Amino acid sequence: MTSIDTKSVHTAGMEERTIRPKVMPLYQTSAFSFSSLEELEGYYEGNGTYLYTRTANPNTDALGQTVAQLEGAPRGVAASSGMSAILAGILAVAQAGDHILAAEDVYGGTFHLLKEELKRLGITVHFEDFSDIGTIEQMLVDFPEVKLIVSESITNPFLRIEDIEGLVRLKNQYGVKVMIDNTFATPYTYTPYAQGVDLVVHSATKYLGGHSDVTSGVLVGDESLIEEATKRVVNLGMNLSPFEAWLTIRGIKTLALRMEKQTVNAQAIADFLQDKARVWYPGKGAIVSFELPESLDVSTFFSSLGWIKIVPTLAGVETTVSYPFGTSHRALSAEEKARIGVTERVVRLSAGIEGTDDILGQLQLAFN
Ligand code: PLP
Repeated sequence: MTSIDTKSVHTAGMEERTIRPKVMPLYQTSAFSFSSLEELEGYYEGNGTYLYTRTANPNTDALGQTVAQLEGAPRGVAASSGMSAILAGILAVAQAGDHILAAEDVYGGTFHLLKEELKRLGITVHFEDFSDIGTIEQMLVDFPEVKLIVSESITNPFLRIEDIEGLVRLKNQYGVKVMIDNTFATPYTYTPYAQGVDLVVHSATKYLGGHSDVTSGVLVGDESLIEEATKRVVNLGMNLSPFEAWLTIRGIKTLALRMEKQTVNAQAIADFLQDKARVWYPGKGAIVSFELPESLDVSTFFSSLGWIKIVPTLAGVETTVSYPFGTSHRALSAEEKARIGVTERVVRLSAGIEGTDDILGQLQLAFN
């Protein structure tokens, strides 16, 4: 190389060296290079090298496998968001003409995806109240076209704990697949794959990432289903960027520590709120939902929370509140919101890792 034009383009230090980093480096590259056509051919023969980041990348692969390991599943795939991981899971099982049975209280974005987008793809979705397993069974009897049951281990915002054992029994009896969104619970609290469901999905944007600085999703499950889901991720371009995968993996390293502290704080907050509001806290996880009494002005309450920020998300290390009526469940019609109980007075609080007394003190100020 002689010219500045060539030397500035060909980065120095790219030659092969044995370097043993303590943590996985970031492979922030859209493609991988080959030293010969034979080596390139080897990729297609499955020698474990990488070709193109949309099809696979070491960081995104590592994230899929790390979450699979946490959930006790054989394989996982990372996706660009929780929504795309959910879509990949659905399309791994269902196609035009098939039906899906979903809990009516799934996250608003999931509800919207199921209701609006799947209709365009020719997939019919039935929403049901999943608190009664008998209703679900009757639907499977009435609609043999159902291929997949979709629910969440802890629902949003009322934190209903799903009867996973019941769903697994129905899955075995009726030959359907079950996909559970484990975002709110995390594998710290529940491991639905280990309980027998086929697919477990995460908005890794939440607890897995844990620091509100990444948007990502992960789907884990049976080998063959994840292989199908991976094809959807690749072909529909729903892949996660290497940097977001790297950040998510960094977040996961402290998942257990964060969940331990956040769960303790959530229980303390739920206890504190008992005589002040109608409270939903199932004794698990780090989200507490409550309905403000008529005596409090909702808008004044929200703007009196000081350092407890109002955000349209959850699960960061900071305690935050959100307003399901105006954000996560906004897309639902007035009747749909009323049916599941998302009123203008419902607050969803995500417990952070701060000192418990500081959080309770701040909440007390808002109630005052
Ligand atoms: N599932 C649940 C339970 C969620 O709360 C969310 C987002 O809030 C999603 C899925 C969608 O995830 P993302 O925003 O990463 O696409």
